[in-house]
Amino acid sequence: MTKEFRGFAAVSNVNLKVRRGSIHALIGPNGAGKTTCFNLLTKFLPVTRGRITYDGRDITAMKPAEVARLGLVRSFQISAVFPHFTVMENVRVALQRQRGNSFDFWRSSSMLKQYNDRAMELLADVGLTQYAELAAGQLPYGRKRALEIATTLAMEPQMMLLDEPTAGMTSEDVDRIVALVKRVSQGRTVLLVEHNLKVVEGLCDRITVLARGQVLAEGDYASVSRNPEVIAAYLGE
Ligand code: ADP
Repeated sequence: MTKEFRGFAAVSNVNLKVRRGSIHALIGPNGAGKTTCFNLLTKFLPVTRGRITYDGRDITAMKPAEVARLGLVRSFQISAVFPHFTVMENVRVALQRQRGNSFDFWRSSSMLKQYNDRAMELLADVGLTQYAELAAGQLPYGRKRALEIATTLAMEPQMMLLDEPTAGMTSEDVDRIVALVKRVSQGRTVLLVEHNLKVVEGLCDRITVLARGQVLAEGDYASVSRNPEVIAAYLGE
């Protein structure tokens, strides 16, 4: 796939294959084209050339919501969290959005209970049960990323795209998110952009290194981290 912005190729002939069930990292120096790839895969941006297939289907011409319904879901950004809603309400809103029945559910208490129960299950999955009633804006930073994962899980993803899940975290938070990503990746495919190479090493089966919009190397951590071109690209950052 290729994406040009006024003639400048931010992503140039990138052939990215993510195996079903794998945890795959997309790494590379700033400006390499990682975010653009995410935007192309989730259809937030149209490709200039090329094709995108997911689960055997051509999704090149689809809209973001259609792709999300097929199970290819990108993590919500923290900015998408409603700070005045509780942690649990945030997950409930995501569930409601996924099931697409607007605000009707407020009228039915059994429906509301179903949403609440499912929201609490998802919070338990990401270790946030004790924060359920806290306003989301009050969550410590590391826990906000866990909430982001819970709201993403509410979309019932088969493939999750996580954008720097450990960015700006303390090492304790990093360990917790790594364990969480491992857990939620069971039975799913995960593609993540990650700057912390320790995290990549511990988590990912396969790594694609981008630089200046092109694939510089691909393979497991051991092969990619020994690649002189990769080392040079990082040192030149
Ligand atoms: P990364 O996520 O790896 O840091 P990006 O995908 O954000 O890289 O950016 C890749 C290149 O494309 C950069 O040179 C960036 O300036 C450029 N770029 C990204 N988005 C746009 C845009 N909307 N318009 C013009 N140039 C863009």
